Amino acid sequence: MTTACVREVGLRDGLQLAASRLDTDTKLDWIRQQAAAGFREIEITSFVPPSLLPQFSDAAEVVAGANAVADLTSVSLVLNVKGADRAIAAGARHITYVVSASEAHSQSNVRCSTQEALDRFPIVMALARDAGVFAGAAISTAFGCSLQGAVPDQQVLSLVSSLSEYGAGEITLADTVGFASPRDVTRLFRGAAERTERPLGAHFHDTRGLGLANVVAALDTGVRHFDASLGGLGGCPFAPGASGNIATEDCVYLLESLGVHTGVSIDAMIALRQQLAVWLPDEALTGKLALAGPARTFSTASVA
Ligand code: ZN
Repeated sequence: MTTACVREVGLRDGLQLAASRLDTDTKLDWIRQQAAAGFREIEITSFVPPSLLPQFSDAAEVVAGANAVADLTSVSLVLNVKGADRAIAAGARHITYVVSASEAHSQSNVRCSTQEALDRFPIVMALARDAGVFAGAAISTAFGCSLQGAVPDQQVLSLVSSLSEYGAGEITLADTVGFASPRDVTRLFRGAAERTERPLGAHFHDTRGLGLANVVAALDTGVRHFDASLGGLGGCPFAPGASGNIATEDCVYLLESLGVHTGVSIDAMIALRQQLAVWLPDEALTGKLALAGPARTFSTASVA
């Protein structure tokens, strides 16, 4: 039986660009309902300075609330040592540290070079180890950057090797601005798998409509961990032209239709997606499944 984990990132990547705000109680309601729908991993917040992204000023409260949800891995994003410190102090049990493969994106996003960001990772790892916290890493703009243009494969693969050597528990390659094609995905994930034994994750944006095709390409290289955002919510305020993530509901439906078990209840997921539209009336949601519903001939891998 093939299984895969779809990790909801709407509360982080989705809300990051949204003009609307969600209050803490609504975020926790979202987390609880998503966990009840069968999701086992949710990226719940980002420990960035509240002055930069006020929508995450409640990060510590969200961590505390999410920690009370059973059978859920709540992931907090961190961009520097201070963020990791704050996340761990707040009780985060799983953090993801982000390094931008693009120099231009790194300067714009975290105001340091890619090498400087990489050099901070061992410090983050040490903090996490001391606290018994799982630390993964994500490489953003791995498939290109709207500021810089091309990002050489060698740059990304060298980051994979280094992050792996430093002890990252998992490594996610992120197509932050939706530049990747399935051919790029196959090439880069194959290369990454040659450089690390750690689980690889895929983070795709559907900016140019290739998001789900990229999921299939990554799945074929052995990737079993996919970030997605309910209703396709999301983007990056520091990467011009970035639009939403692949829609969680479409990603789950795709995987299930390929016989890959996700453990997710399609009905509960679609109901939550409708609820999200009520919570965020001013945000444009995308995704096809919620509009049409599952095909009459569809049966989920998870119950079959
Ligand atoms: Zn993203």
